Amino acid sequence: MSKIETVGIVGAGQMGGGIAHVSALAGYQVLLYDISPDRIEKGIATINGNMARQVASGKLEESDRKAAMERIRPAAELADLAGADLVIEAATEDETVKRKIFTQLCPLLNPEALLATNTSSISITRLAAATDRPERFIGIHFMNPVPVMKLVELVRGIATEDQTFEMAKAFVGRLGKTVTVSEDFPAFIVNRILLPMINEAIYTLYEGVGTVEAIDTAMRLGANHPMGPLQLADFIGLDTCLSIMQVLHDGLSDSKYRPCPLLVKYVEAGWLGRKTGRGFYDYRGEHPVPTR
Ligand code: NAD
Repeated sequence: MSKIETVGIVGAGQMGGGIAHVSALAGYQVLLYDISPDRIEKGIATINGNMARQVASGKLEESDRKAAMERIRPAAELADLAGADLVIEAATEDETVKRKIFTQLCPLLNPEALLATNTSSISITRLAAATDRPERFIGIHFMNPVPVMKLVELVRGIATEDQTFEMAKAFVGRLGKTVTVSEDFPAFIVNRILLPMINEAIYTLYEGVGTVEAIDTAMRLGANHPMGPLQLADFIGLDTCLSIMQVLHDGLSDSKYRPCPLLVKYVEAGWLGRKTGRGFYDYRGEHPVPTR
């Protein structure tokens, strides 16, 4: 595989949609697949809305929006990704789900095609072992929201070949993003540092040290963070936050990574943050209102 022209994306949630958005704007053909067909439809509508906002704010030409949208095609089945030169998996942060996707996907792909995962925390080497091409497998970890955030972490598995790394680096460069390289350890760099901070904010709430509003205000105005940690947790998705903490806890066997029981409770309630309308804040009204 010498050139990437078509990018397949598995998972049309917030990250898959964002990756489709920036890939199409950079001139790649995009095939977007999700296990729930309505997520593909919703994902494409969201991309269209986000690009329209970029046009309205003068960041994008209308003709470029139109051309980019024409490059995004829905993939009704995994088999529709067969022609992709690079497939990026951006499905739910669950190792069993991801392994199953790779098992089903690999026999359908061109043997030369590159395979990547957008996992926030799971071992690249272990996921690569669930594929038929560990040497052409790599972690391409985008940040949320993808069209806005400038960083992408590249993570090699033990078997990742240099050519795979160079091609992934060139792909990320064409998207206009900056690469940092992380070794393959649980949660890589950004989430290794960020998630324990968020988990600590949830413990601070759990132990009654402060309210949702007090904690977020404290970190925004006291530490100059653009968003409070609980607001950020809702934005990431509380299921994703919990999965990352579990990967840190299991992978590093250190009790300092113990997920806060309150985070577990929110996830069990299905209060996953913005994407489900409720988390540490309730988003169903005109303005977000703290739920505790
Ligand atoms: P999301 O819940 O918004 O989307 C996940 C999508 O995967 C859903 O549409 C779901 O239907 C789909 N899916 C589930 N099982 C599938 C399957 N078997 N085949 C195809 N699609 C399937 O989650 P998200 O926030 O987009 O996260 C996706 C991935 O990106 C995760 O690995 C997450 O850790 C990673 N990530 C998330 C963030 C973040 O801030 N949310 C940042 C960086 C990376």
